[in-house]
Amino acid sequence: MSELKLFNSLTRQIEAFKPVHESEARVYSCGPTVYNYQHIGNMRAYVFADTLGRVLSYKGYKLTHVINITDVGHLTSDADAGDDKMEKAAAAQGKTAWDIAAFYQADFEADLARLNICKVQHPRATEYVEAMIAWGTAIAEKHCYELESGLYFDISTVREYGRLARAVTEDGEGRIEDVDGKRHAADFAIWRKSPAGETRQMEWDSPWGRGAPGWHLECSVMSKELLGHPFDIHTGGIDHREIHHPNEIAQNQAHGDCDHSGAKIWMHNNFLIDRSGKDSGGKMSKSSGEFLRLQLLIDKGFHPLAYRLMCLQAHYRSELEFSWEGLQAAFVRLKRMVMGVTALKARHAELVSASILPNEPTVETEKWTLKQVQGDAGIGIEIRKVGSMRFEEALFDDLNTPEAVTSIEWALSLKNEEPRAKLDAIAKMDSVLGLNLLTLTRADLRIRPITATITEAEIEAALAARKAARAAKDFARSDRIRDDLIAKGVEVMDGDPLGWDWRIDL
Ligand code: AMP
Ligand code: ZN
Repeated sequence: MSELKLFNSLTRQIEAFKPVHESEARVYSCGPTVYNYQHIGNMRAYVFADTLGRVLSYKGYKLTHVINITDVGHLTSDADAGDDKMEKAAAAQGKTAWDIAAFYQADFEADLARLNICKVQHPRATEYVEAMIAWGTAIAEKHCYELESGLYFDISTVREYGRLARAVTEDGEGRIEDVDGKRHAADFAIWRKSPAGETRQMEWDSPWGRGAPGWHLECSVMSKELLGHPFDIHTGGIDHREIHHPNEIAQNQAHGDCDHSGAKIWMHNNFLIDRSGKDSGGKMSKSSGEFLRLQLLIDKGFHPLAYRLMCLQAHYRSELEFSWEGLQAAFVRLKRMVMGVTALKARHAELVSASILPNEPTVETEKWTLKQVQGDAGIGIEIRKVGSMRFEEALFDDLNTPEAVTSIEWALSLKNEEPRAKLDAIAKMDSVLGLNLLTLTRADLRIRPITATITEAEIEAALAARKAARAAKDFARSDRIRDDLIAKGVEVMDGDPLGWDWRIDL
């Protein structure tokens, strides 16, 4: 297997992956702030992090992956002014901040599962406040100063502050002079004191008074506690390259008393852009236009894995423009692959029953869980057998998922290979792409839009009646049934090359 190369935002270069701990890969991904639902742009960040984790597992590394849950400290801007997102949402909904966090964390985890994102650790920031206070105490004297509003980090106390963002001066992009008395515009809060006379739902005692930690601190603390510093890879959306991650690095430098940044490789996914929304605003955000949640896609009749495929069709470092047409195209492509695999499975079963092949167990998808793929010395051999080295070459070249997806289609299209060999190869490739190609069925992919006025069972019954009418040469009746289905938004797809009998118009 060729070596894995990844783009490091820190050096702006593609680098060979060399693990800090032999045979292990430790990854930390900045997780969601759980004050609201996640939009599908956020979910792109986790599809990317999951793909990275799967590639590392495929390469045989023992993976430890953390996606933290921010349930305290993130203000309505990335800077130090404004309300705490959690407290604001709690006040608006008349609930406690803790209830808000639990509700949206559960919703987030449900979305992860629907996108077939592997289960990893999800520590919550509020569980690490004590460790954050200890960290602040350790760096306060040399690196911080206290103001009435809190404890602030002095960015001039570390070398090359902002090198990740390529911020030339302290006035780099996105810096806002928002707190009275800060020494540099880019200085940031380590601890925010609760305003005098105000009680917050989430506040703790600290050497700097009662209050809450600054947002950046949690990721320094949790990554060190759970992965040790330095660890291998830190991921996040590209917005984090500008403020959040440079601040994390500064904290890590200060605490470590050395020049390491915490992680060896920093990777950032580009944005999902939505120009279809009301304000054709570009970067998707929760306050703009139609709130594109995964649930909305499902409500409209799309399978969530069509969205995963849509993400994989773009390189993670490129912007991806969302459109309903694009999603529809990804859905059709997914259906095509699933039907291709279904046909292969049927062909394999035929060969077995005709005793042309020994009666080995048919391909069992459970067999190909990541755990079993890990450490499989023969990995790649099967794929090579069907000539698909390009799959690995693509993925190991900074996660070229668009090319990797085409390798699956290519394997499907090979004419002279045994179905079994093709299925094995596709199963292994899919263990990295996570499209569930071996388990999905046509029925799974038929998702009824919530606006549909007819159920799947009713459609199937109508189609059976239509078939019977046609067999009896009662074409008037068969046409009536079809017209009735059309009136209910169901397209009858006679002669569809994929054998798709019907679909509800989206
Ligand atoms: P947040 O909940 O705002 O902290 O964001 C969670 C993750 O989603 C972070 O890694 C962000 O960088 C990322 N993110 C936010 N918006 C987008 C977007 N439109 N496309 C891709 N990633 C995004
Ligand atoms: Zn973070």
